[in-house]
Amino acid sequence: MVDDEIEFEAPVFTSCACCGNRSTHLVRFVTRRGNAFAVYYADFADGHDMVSLIASVGDWSEDLGAASRRTAFAMRLWVDGDRYQVGLVDAAESGYSDGFLGHILDRNEALAHPLRQEAFDLSDHAVACDRPVIEFLDNQPRGG
Ligand SMILES: [Zn+2]
Repeated sequence: MVDDEIEFEAPVFTSCACCGNRSTHLVRFVTRRGNAFAVYYADFADGHDMVSLIASVGDWSEDLGAASRRTAFAMRLWVDGDRYQVGLVDAAESGYSDGFLGHILDRNEALAHPLRQEAFDLSDHAVACDRPVIEFLDNQPRGG
């Protein structure tokens, strides 16, 4: 795995729009070799069975207009048996809009995008070392 550093911000709790359960919002800034490189958000609500992850890769400098040089990949994480699964979803399913995170790709665009592997590296980081994400996924009911 590449040598990235992740800054773990404190979680923000809200209520899920669909069920009112506690919803957790995580913001992670990722630095590679000292440079701001990517950001991902993870959102999940108690009682739901997946984590929504949006990973934005590109220019995370403070430059004006940097957001236009970012590309965002909308993903979901879930558990199947003992394994973490990840899948790309369409922009409309991400819960976010183009803007700060850059242009959010639809699934088909994401699958063909040259930065696709960066997005999967970030989801790998999330399931390897992002404790609230891991705890949520590990507390999912097993079997069936
Ligand atoms: Zn809900």
